[in-house]
Amino acid sequence: MSVQVVSAAAAKVPEVELKDLSPSEAESQLGLSTAAVGAMAPAAGGGDPEAPAPAAERPPAPGPGSGPAAALSPAAGKVPQASAMKRSDPHHQHQRHRDGGEALVSPDGTVTEAPRTIKKQIQFADQKQEFNKRPTKIGRRSLSRSISQSSTDSYSSAASYTDSSDDETSPRDKQQKNSKGSSDFCVKNIKQAEFGRREIEIAEQEMPALMALRKRAQGEKPLAGAKIVGCTHITAQTAVLMETLGALGAQCRWAACNIYSTLNEVAAALAESGFPVFAWKGESEDDFWWCIDRCVNVEGWQPNMILDDGGDLTHWIYKKYPNMFKKIKGIVEESVTGVHRLYQLSKAGKLCVPAMNVNDSVTKQKFDNLYCCRESILDGLKRTTDMMFGGKQVVVCGYGEVGKGCCAALKAMGSIVYVTEIDPICALQACMDGFRLVKLNEVIRQVDIVITCTGNKNVVTREHLDRMKNSCIVCNMGHSNTEIDVASLRTPELTWERVRSQVDHVIWPDGKRIVLLAEGRLLNLSCSTVPTFVLSITATTQALALIELYNAPEGRYKQDVYLLPKKMDEYVASLHLPTFDAHLTELTDEQAKYLGLNKNGPFKPNYYRY
Ligand code: NAD
Repeated sequence: MSVQVVSAAAAKVPEVELKDLSPSEAESQLGLSTAAVGAMAPAAGGGDPEAPAPAAERPPAPGPGSGPAAALSPAAGKVPQASAMKRSDPHHQHQRHRDGGEALVSPDGTVTEAPRTIKKQIQFADQKQEFNKRPTKIGRRSLSRSISQSSTDSYSSAASYTDSSDDETSPRDKQQKNSKGSSDFCVKNIKQAEFGRREIEIAEQEMPALMALRKRAQGEKPLAGAKIVGCTHITAQTAVLMETLGALGAQCRWAACNIYSTLNEVAAALAESGFPVFAWKGESEDDFWWCIDRCVNVEGWQPNMILDDGGDLTHWIYKKYPNMFKKIKGIVEESVTGVHRLYQLSKAGKLCVPAMNVNDSVTKQKFDNLYCCRESILDGLKRTTDMMFGGKQVVVCGYGEVGKGCCAALKAMGSIVYVTEIDPICALQACMDGFRLVKLNEVIRQVDIVITCTGNKNVVTREHLDRMKNSCIVCNMGHSNTEIDVASLRTPELTWERVRSQVDHVIWPDGKRIVLLAEGRLLNLSCSTVPTFVLSITATTQALALIELYNAPEGRYKQDVYLLPKKMDEYVASLHLPTFDAHLTELTDEQAKYLGLNKNGPFKPNYYRY
């Protein structure tokens, strides 16, 4: 049987025909029995093996899941009860303002703390440092542009507010031990562990699927023997993932994928509970690579799994320790950038282990792009500008998932929303949703806010910026900071005034000023929080991908990039449903036969666009 794994999100990554699996392979690949998934539904019955299904979509044969991963199937443990999975008390939600620390970067690349308002020209040094050339204290704090696009482009909101600006000592120069006497970590301040633990506990409330996986894995450890090296944002949500991986039997060593995004107190809590974590907020580029190296270059410990966000860790191992790949069973990659790099490696025949593209899983895409942005666009704008949305004219560039989320939120607040698009299908969707489709030039003089969500470059050019009206707010929700041509604003006639963290006024000689948010980087990740529930989806997908790759028998996965099967996506969604006390309808045998489906899924063909 040919199971064609869903193609990578169309325009972003090359489509890859991924694999052919026999029914039993597909079954054990999932680590879930179809009956087990059926048990998720309130009134689930057995599957209908006789039900006809199109060959390409025929589900795996019913039967018990195999391998340790089966321990995680709903049948292996109790389905989380709605009551036990209730959402946390809203009064205890994570409401902290997480704006990044103020840092002014002078033309020579050195950093000083910013006064409240200061005129400046921002420039980044392009030179790389070798981390083994120990830099001076100032050098180490310099924010030279990372070789890693992702480490700076995916700037995160997760800035630590417990940083002590008095403590200028680099964590690399500190001798720290946790309460058990281990010093196998490098964090800003191990004493912040208790506070970090509370942060992790708050995140656990909104990550029901991972908590359910922990319960189900009791007894059987599907990741026993796994040695996972990770490079992701180090936040409370990541901590919940890491501790889940630990509960499933894995040993982990972790570094940050972003020089700004580490929550110091969370890193401390992880180090205190025995995780070798090498990360702190405000790493230099040199620190960044040093931390990654400390995770992989360890005596007596060699990773056999990689969990990466941005591809830097993978890149480092390729560059410095290619022999390590002999023992590595697979790579799980979360970001667009990292996935793109993996496809490039695969195309060039240089990918030496199987890799899972978690980024393009359906649930992850929908939650990260549409729902996350619908929830966080207003938050990001509000926290930075205190603006009112009602009646404001907004142009949103790009009506893909992110654009749709932004438009929906702004429309609901009473803004007048215009959309720009290059794709007639998305353009027509915008029209049908009640938005005026325009060219940016047509509205640029009148709008109060410009938001880019295209994933493209130079969507907002210097010419557009010149024509904007006074006080126009300009921001980006796309991955890369190239959507707005911010570099074109770094010219002598324009004055930059930092008015708040992540808020710059760029002032023209005639006094006109525009309000540039997060220097054109992702607004929500830079200036607001991302809902934990969204991250729960991603983290659960990552955990399942790791389990699958780690437990897959030799030969199931080749040296290629794979997407998780749809059924696993459905499983991730199922694990989150009890939070809402949601009641899923079960197909009757007759209905299943009529639709040509197995009662336990998968419920949609791979080409279905949700
Ligand atoms: P998408 O491909 O679904 O949508 C992008 C849209 O922009 C497409 O419809 C495309 O036709 C349109 N477009 C491209 N160039 C354009 C141009 N010059 N003018 C107008 N429209 C143009 O992608 P998406 O899922 O919406 O993601 C968009 C970007 O946001 C990506 O860079 C993605 O990585 C990023 N992203 C951000 C977040 C966040 O939290 N801020 C979350 C997920 C994804």
